Amino acid sequence: MAHSRIEPRKPKFYSSRDIDRLPQLQKLPEESRFAMKVVAHVLPMRVNNYVVEDLIDWTNVPNDPIFNLTFMQRGMLTDEHFDRVAEAVRTGDDAKIKEAAHAVRLALNPHPAGQKTANVPVWEGDAVSGVQHKYRETCLVFPSAGQTCHAYCTFCFRWPQFVGLDDLKFATDESLRFQDYLKAHKDVTDVLFTGGDPMVMGIKNLRAYIEPLLGPGFEHIQTIRIGTKSVSYWPYRYVTDPDADEVLKLFEQIVASGKHLAIMGHYNHWIEMSTDVAQEAIRRIRGTGAVIRCQSPLIRHINDSAEVWTRMWNTQVRLGCVPYYMFVERNTGAKAYFEIPLAEAYEIFREAYSQVSGLARTVRGPSMSAMPGKVAIEGITEIKGERVFVLRFIQGRDSDWVKRAFFAKFDPHASWLTDLKPAFGEKHFFYEPELHRLLTEKQRAMESTGQAEAVGD
Ligand SMILES: *Cc1c(COP(=O)(O)O)cnc(C)c1O
Repeated sequence: MAHSRIEPRKPKFYSSRDIDRLPQLQKLPEESRFAMKVVAHVLPMRVNNYVVEDLIDWTNVPNDPIFNLTFMQRGMLTDEHFDRVAEAVRTGDDAKIKEAAHAVRLALNPHPAGQKTANVPVWEGDAVSGVQHKYRETCLVFPSAGQTCHAYCTFCFRWPQFVGLDDLKFATDESLRFQDYLKAHKDVTDVLFTGGDPMVMGIKNLRAYIEPLLGPGFEHIQTIRIGTKSVSYWPYRYVTDPDADEVLKLFEQIVASGKHLAIMGHYNHWIEMSTDVAQEAIRRIRGTGAVIRCQSPLIRHINDSAEVWTRMWNTQVRLGCVPYYMFVERNTGAKAYFEIPLAEAYEIFREAYSQVSGLARTVRGPSMSAMPGKVAIEGITEIKGERVFVLRFIQGRDSDWVKRAFFAKFDPHASWLTDLKPAFGEKHFFYEPELHRLLTEKQRAMESTGQAEAVGD
């Protein structure tokens, strides 16, 4: 393959301990570095040499989008939380720092949208570890060896697992029971490997998770999806890493088995697709017959303009990738720093969407991955004198909800589904009674396993 111009690179990882050592950071005021350290005691920090050297434009710091994507900022904590941790840091007492950081973490809504209780299937009397099965057709699998990333996104909604708040109950167990679960569930057409990032796994682990699904008993699985940020944070994974060619061979093998391979590429900004190595990775992945579908949340300080999205979607289409989802940033972690009101999110989406050709309009959003399902803001309009959000289920915990439109009172400050009230004086949204029933049923099933305490929040 023609990638001779791309030199192999060894990854170097930087954490909060490197804030006073990383040369690029030493140009920042002492105060900014201190703030970075304080925030990094609460939220996980990890960045690598490729992101630091090739993606961040240091002449544009602190406004640079990739800098905001990977480095901690003062504003990511409220003043109250910041001061509490800063005070502890100034004492230099490790126990005090840990205690303050832990208290703040617990105040940051570490488990939004019932991730741990409501989505983990109970099967034959036991919770299936490492699996989330919320929508009938698609099962999420969290390989235990794939629960880290090549760098951490500052806005990541899975931040609790990287700071040890989660005991990785999410991850698969050694028995790989998820395979039996998938075998027994013929409704499942899509298996989505996610994390962390499954692509941090070496070829041996990737094979162990994926190859069995290509064999007998899994004929109902038509698509293998891999959710990954590696295409952005470490494209060398597909180009020059020691097992890059073997990874591509595995991709070819999946396609040859007659299944579809979808790489769910997590791109937040077009900059991530602008380097030679990023584009070479895309070329090589596509060369295997895999399709790259792209998704990202809409995030303040990172991609909060229609221009950025227009250019990103156009770049994706030009490189042969498929724009898939624009998400609303979840209500967890440094939400206050990153959040964008739904009304503004809708306007940014609409403006960007209106400026691209139909081939980029495969993208859907802005979508909230909320407790009842994926809910898209389809419009803002006035009906019989009342200003309303037009909402629609892209995915529903009950598939009968999908594609149904419903209405919420317009609220310029609302930034999540739970901030919304039904329009037209109705007492509840149409799905709420059934949602309540489903969740109660789920709670009982969890309790029956005796694990309700362990997986509950
Ligand atoms: C988004 C999501 C999926 C996949 O949904 P698609 O619309 O098929 O991409 C599956 N499970 C969960 C929990 C999700 O949030």
